[in-house]
Formats: sequence, structure tokens, C-alpha cells
Amino acid sequence: MSAKFDWHAMEKKWQKKWEWAKVHETDPIARKPKYFVTAAYPYPNSPQHIGHGRSYTLADVNARYHRMKGFNTLFPMGFHYTGTPIFAMAKRLGEKDPEIVRTFTKLYMVPESQLDQLAEPVKMARYFHQEIKRGMMEIGFSIDWRREFTTIDPIYSRFIEWHFGKLKAKGLITTGTHPVGWCPNDNQPVGMHDTRGDVEPEIGEQFLVKFEKDGVYYPTATLRPETVFGVTNLWLNPDANYVQARVDAEEWVVTKETVEKLRHQNHKVEIVKELDTKDLVWKQVVNPVTKAQVPILPAGFVESGNGTGVVMSVPAHAPYDYQALIDLKTQPLGSDESAIVVALKPVSIIRLDGFTEIPAAELVEKFAIRDQKDPRLDDATKEIYSAEFHRGIMKENTGSYSGMAIPEARATIVLDYSRLGSIGKMYEITNRPVICRCGWECLVHIFENQWFINYGDVEWKKLAHESLDRIVLLPEESRNEFSYAIDWLKEKACARKVGLGTRLPWDKDWVIEALSDSVIYMAYYILAKYLCQNWITFRKFEKDPSRLTDQFFNYVFLGEGDGNPVCVTTGLPRGIVEAVRKEFLYFYPVDMRHSAKDLIPNHLTFYLFQHSVLFPPERRPKGIVANGFVMMEGMKMSKSLENIIPLRQGVANYGADPVRMGVLATAELGQDTDFSQSLVVSIQERLFNLISQARKLRRTRQKRGKLSSLDRWMLSQLNRTVRDASNSIEKLRVREVINRALYQLDNDLSWYQRRLGPKKTGKDNRSMVMREVMETRARILAPIAPHTAEQIWSLLGNKGLIARARWPEASIKADDSRVEQEEFLVRQTLEDTGEILKATGMTAKQVVYYTASDWKWQIYLKALDYGNKERGQGDFIRKVMSDPELRKLGRAAAEYSVKVAQQIRRSHSGLRKERVATGRLSEKQILEDAGRFLGAELGAKVRVWGENDSGIYDPKGRARLAEPYRPAILVE
Ligand SMILES: [Zn+2]
Repeated sequence: MSAKFDWHAMEKKWQKKWEWAKVHETDPIARKPKYFVTAAYPYPNSPQHIGHGRSYTLADVNARYHRMKGFNTLFPMGFHYTGTPIFAMAKRLGEKDPEIVRTFTKLYMVPESQLDQLAEPVKMARYFHQEIKRGMMEIGFSIDWRREFTTIDPIYSRFIEWHFGKLKAKGLITTGTHPVGWCPNDNQPVGMHDTRGDVEPEIGEQFLVKFEKDGVYYPTATLRPETVFGVTNLWLNPDANYVQARVDAEEWVVTKETVEKLRHQNHKVEIVKELDTKDLVWKQVVNPVTKAQVPILPAGFVESGNGTGVVMSVPAHAPYDYQALIDLKTQPLGSDESAIVVALKPVSIIRLDGFTEIPAAELVEKFAIRDQKDPRLDDATKEIYSAEFHRGIMKENTGSYSGMAIPEARATIVLDYSRLGSIGKMYEITNRPVICRCGWECLVHIFENQWFINYGDVEWKKLAHESLDRIVLLPEESRNEFSYAIDWLKEKACARKVGLGTRLPWDKDWVIEALSDSVIYMAYYILAKYLCQNWITFRKFEKDPSRLTDQFFNYVFLGEGDGNPVCVTTGLPRGIVEAVRKEFLYFYPVDMRHSAKDLIPNHLTFYLFQHSVLFPPERRPKGIVANGFVMMEGMKMSKSLENIIPLRQGVANYGADPVRMGVLATAELGQDTDFSQSLVVSIQERLFNLISQARKLRRTRQKRGKLSSLDRWMLSQLNRTVRDASNSIEKLRVREVINRALYQLDNDLSWYQRRLGPKKTGKDNRSMVMREVMETRARILAPIAPHTAEQIWSLLGNKGLIARARWPEASIKADDSRVEQEEFLVRQTLEDTGEILKATGMTAKQVVYYTASDWKWQIYLKALDYGNKERGQGDFIRKVMSDPELRKLGRAAAEYSVKVAQQIRRSHSGLRKERVATGRLSEKQILEDAGRFLGAELGAKVRVWGENDSGIYDPKGRARLAEPYRPAILVE
């Protein structure tokens, strides 16, 4: 049925109306509170797909919700041309990389004739810029497009020059020699946005402890140089390729892979000769610290690409080494070799309370390790490393380090032996392998005379923490991750030799990279509107941006100086300069920044850092949303799986609102959500049903007659829905809003109609109540499914747009707890009876209900009250029995008290409070009133007795089983 419905015609209609009415164009309005929402501006190097849709849709839901709450809400958008993502993509296209060509023509639907053009980075960016923008319009994002810009606009570049000038003046730009993640193919630094799967290369420091044989060194990479006292042997991988190489002034034995890595870390390296591992193993080398001779042995767990491929073995304290020794003992070995292995005994060098002499052995047993390839060895290793680091003490067999705690011992040993040249350092990518977008594995490069933003500055970290302490985070659980990122960040390379973007103002060889020119641009949206509206005035700056002086930016964004000199130096009219300043003060700071959670350790933390040092406290970010990702039919989205649906195609296939709900409906904020065709189709049907219902309700009278208790029940449920939906959407828990307003409310409505029975003469309030439900529901859905909501709103005869209507407010007056409890009794009784019929397989002729006696109600209400006060059960029973009337009942009262006390303890406190407030229900009356309904539902005659009624019909003695809210039931 819904297939016939023209979603696109409807969407276009409302999108045009929004545009004509300028609903999404936001200017300052004095005395009206503002709300400023931003979402990360996209890289136009590909069309957006369903996965991107989540953050932007959520930002739009938030913007629309705040508009309905009466906030003057601004939601702008720009386009991020900077850096390597576009560059890399254009380059691969230019090289006719078959994978890229296929992606462009088959997935992105780019006409083949256009491919050559798109190999030029700017042209590619412009192409996808328009593509993404069209998609954002088609899905109905409420963006103020007057503020659109790109990061290669001359005036934006001027803004970034000003930004970097500020950082430099504050001493936060440094040059120096630092390790960075690096692509050896592209010959430049790589950050998260340059790698496949968007992985940030993490850099760690390892120590090289140099064992020696005949003047040739075997540098073993380790995180724990203090364990050199416990080394029993070295490990080499028998299948790896080892070389002897001249490294600076020494000769080293390392794997072939290590050579390239060392070269990138400022070593002069020449390969002297390739080696055969067979010639290396079983030989002896000298421990540089203990001077003991230890053998070199083969082990498969050694990775040739990790560290140097040479590993020192400390079987007492390293589970891998312990297990590799066990494995070696099971190998067929010659008698000489066997003798070497058998002679090896773990040497314990760290004392650790709670562990035996050989903790590695304990851990191997605890984790039930099979062999040295067992992945659980990583967990075992982590456990012992952490325990020893925090609680271990060096033993007597470690010479002058004996008695030291591990951190102290490590620092001292490194210091002592670095001086002698026996311990060196090497950087490694700790989350390797990280693959560059070009396909090469990233490594660590020591970058000389490179420009860095010094996020390692201690004072700056304090400011960033202050900002974090005051910010609202959704979900709140992400706070630790932010805090960790602030502490962990060090110098960040901020410029590249290639790519689109702004050149460093003081060193034009360098282009500011993408994660550095995108941290305060939210302020630029204010200026961008004026560039668009007064383009004639600003045109001269496009030709000569230098005329837009630092003075201008200092004044409009920081309030430094005075407007007058700005007008003099720039030639701008005073009116415009002051208007920009005023608008900035009105909208800034950003109230909510929307992003996906993978940007927490980089972009979002940079955003906090930069605002904290450049802007005064009242202009710093107020909120950040970091949402989870989107899965496709239960799978991670990936081009190779070909399960990526471009956003525009999704909208074309299913309609805008179903796609919007599809990316938000199945998971809470921080979790990954699953997008599936069946889900979107079912949402589409639901929305279509709402539209059809609204069409039927359009002519209903709006005047209320006297409300029946059922009407009041339905309106009370509606009021609850409003309250729950409001609480949920405030925290952007959109899944809950959808559940409540779409699904649960439907259940309530169908109960309401079922209870009313077939339609009568139209004298009841049914249509009026249904209309009120529909109207309120449209308003709740308006931020999430805005086109559908507009359609319903207008079908119901409302003038004006729902986008401008108010968010519904729950009212305490509309809560009708008594009616809800009464209706609960009817619903529960009907369900219980149904269960009995189902269990017995009977067809009932007559159903008899027995309602609880007065004394049971007395005890029940006392128990509810007691439950709320959280006192003990014994206490409660004493209290019941202290009532002389109840005590007269003796055992029956005591037994019921015990039972009810247990029931109540398991019940929800909100329910207890409501039932206490409601007090006693006239159950007999309620069930008699519902008798005709119950009879019709059950197809039987219904009779109701009070438990203590005289002349009661109770052939099976059921009446005594009656309890409050649980009448006893007899089926005949
Ligand atoms: Zn590369």
C-alpha cells in the first residue's frame, strides 16, 4: 500500500515550504535564547553514505528539537577541502587505480566521462561537495546554507593564518625533532584521516638492549630493560630474514624489515650481508649487564616486523618466553642442542607478593595456554607486566638495583647503560599494522625541523581539563576517554609538504594539515554569513586577503581593541564590523558539537584544547555528542564488502524520514546501530499508516464532550508519553523517543479502541481523543521524521508549519493515576483469564471474578507504604499485627502479610508510590462496569463478587484467593 505513496513529492513539498519560509535561516534575535549546533564539516572526497548519516541526522534532530523548544537555533555547514584525503583519492584516480575507478563508477555513479576531470583535487572536491550538499537537502537537514564555505576560500585561509599567528604568539607552535606516524611511500606524516579504516598510528618507545658476540651487536627491543638480569637466552624467528648491517658506527644483527625503520629514525644504515638464521641460532652472546653467556634459540612467536626481530628471553617473568621454552623442549633436537635447552632455568629477579618465584609459569597455567601462538598470552602478559610494574621489587641478584621499585630500577638502568652505549632507544607503532590510504604500512619517522602544535604543554593541558570539567558529554561515559586523550597528547605535526589548504604564514613551504585547520572554524560560520550577504563589500579581500587584518579577527572574535581602527585598516563599513562582532557574541559558544566517537582522541580533544587557550571561558564549548557507528545488516560497512549505500541512494529508495529513523532507531547513543532494509521498510509502513490515519481524522470535531474514564486513561497515557519522550530527547536518546511515540503509543491506542468497542453514533469522544493523540505524536516525531510530521500536521488542518510549532509539554494536571490503575486492573484481569483458558483449553460459558476483601486492601496499602520506606519484613508484620482489628483475623492476616511483603519488595518504587496515592480501588465496581467488554472479549457471561459478599456463588472456594489488583478467577 505504501509503495503507491509518493514520498519524494511529499518531501520536496515540505522542503520547499521550509525554504520559502526561511525556517532554517537564523539571525540573532535579542531576548530570544539561542542554541548553536554543529556537526563536523565533511571531506568531499566521496559521497556520504548511510554511515555518515547518523551524526548529521542526530545533529539535525537536536537542532529541530531546540527550535520547537523556543530556541533561536543555528545549524550551519561547511566543507573541508584540506589535506590528504582528497589529494590521495585524486592521485589514485589519476593513476587509474582499478579499485578506485570501480568505486567511482559503480558505487558513486560518477559518469565515466568525468573521471579524468576529477583526478584534479579541487575539481574532485567541488564535485563531491555538490553531491553531499544535495544529499543533505534531500534528507531534510535544517541547515542555514547562507553560511556555507570551503576551507580553501581565500578568506578562510586568512582566518587560519590569524589562528596560527595566535598559537605562535602564545608559544604553542614548536619546531623540533619528533617521532611521527609516517608513510614511506608518500614520504609524509600520516594521521587518522590518512589511513585505511581511519586508524590513528600510536607511537611507543622501546629500549634496545644490545647483546654482543665478536664485536657484533644483537639489539633486543623491550619495554622492560630492567629484566635484563633474568635473561636466559635470545629468540630469533627461524623463518625471518636477518641481516648484518652497519648502523651508525656499529654492526647490528636485525631483521630486514628493521633496516627501513632504523633509517627513518635518524640512523645511517647499510646492509653488510644477509644472514641465514641457521648460522645464528645455538650460538652464544654476551649479556651487556651481567656479562653472562646466553644462547640464541629459535621461536615462532617472534615477529620480524615488530621491534628488531631480536628478542631477549626472560622466562621467569614473561609468559611468552616461558611458553616458548616449553615448546622448544617438545621439539626433536640434537643432543648438543637438547643439552643447551635442558640447562636453561628461569631466573627470578623480581619479588612480587601473592606470586610464586616464577610468576610467568603461574600465568601460563592460569590462562591454560596451549602454545606460543595462543592469543591469551597477551592477556597473561598484560597482567604480570602491570602487577610487577606497580608492586614489584628488584631482588638481591640484581646488584646495585636490588630493593628498588620497578619504575625506579628501569629509569636507573636505562640511564647507566645508555651512557655506556649498551642500551638504545627505538620508536614503534604500537597498534601496528596501520596501513596508509596508499596501501603501504606506516612506520615511525623522526621528523626534523617540522612544525608542531605543542599539545604537550602542561599549562595548556590544565586549561583543556578545565574545559572538559565544565562540558556536557553525551554519552557521559566518554569523559574518561577525553581525559586520557588530554593527558596523552604530545606535540602534533601540524603541517605537510603537500595537500590543499592554508600555508603556514611564516614558512610558506608548509601547508597546515586537516586536523589542525578544523578546530575553531565554528566561529567562522558567523563571518561566513556576512561574506555571503555582503559579497560586494568583501570581494576585494578575495583578491587580496592580507587586507583583512589580524586586527579585524582580534576584534570580532576576541573583542580586542576597538572597531574604529579595524574599519580604517580594512576599509570595511563600521556597521558590518559591529554586526559580525554582535552576532558572534550572540551565537558563540557552540552549544552542541556532534561527531562520531572515533574523533574523541583527536579532533574533539583538539577542539577543547584550542578553544580553551584562544577564547575566554564564556566562549568555550558547552557540549559534545560522540555517537557510535552504523552497521549494515549486522556487518561493518566496507567498500570491499560492497555493503555501502550512498545516502542519496538510500533516500531515493526508502524516503528521507525512514532513512533518518533507520539510522537512529536500533541503538542508544554510544552504541553501534544496525541499519537494515527490513527495518527501514517497516518504519516506512508505520509512517504511512500515521499519514492515512491523519487523513481520516481531519474532519473530526474538536470540542470535547464529557470525558469518560477511558478517554481520561488514553489522555493520561499520552501525557506520560510526552514526559518520557521529553526526558529522552533531552539526552538525545532518540531510540527511546521512537519506541515510546511510535510503538508503545500504538499499543495504548489499540487498547483504547478495543475497550470502546465498535464505533457508535459518533457521540463519544473517540475521534477527538485520537486526534489529540495524533497531533501530539506528530509534534514528538517532528524533529526525527520532519516531513511526515508536517504532512500529518497539515492533514489535521493546522495552519503554519510544525517546524515552527512548540514541543508538547507534559502536565501534572493531565496525569490520572487512578484511571491508569483502574484500567490496569481490567487489562491484567483479562490477560490472566486468557492465560487460564489457554492453559486449560476450556471454552468458558461463565467467568466469575472475586475481588479482595477490605482487610486485604488495608494490609496491601500498608505494605506499599512500608516498601517505600525500605524497612524490614519482620518490622512490617509486627506493625500489621499491632492493629487489633487485623490481629483478630489471626493466621490468615499474618500469612497474607508475609506474602504481600515479599511481592512488594520486588515491585518498582514508582509503581508503589502511585498505588499509595491512588489508595483503594473499587474493584467490584470497575469489573462490573467492564463486564460487558470482558464478556465480549471472552465470549462468556461475566459475574463479579466481593470476597465477603453474602449469598456469594463460590462452588470451588476460590474467593479466599482474591488479592488487591489480582481478583480470583473461576472459569466454568
Ligand atoms: Zn601512503
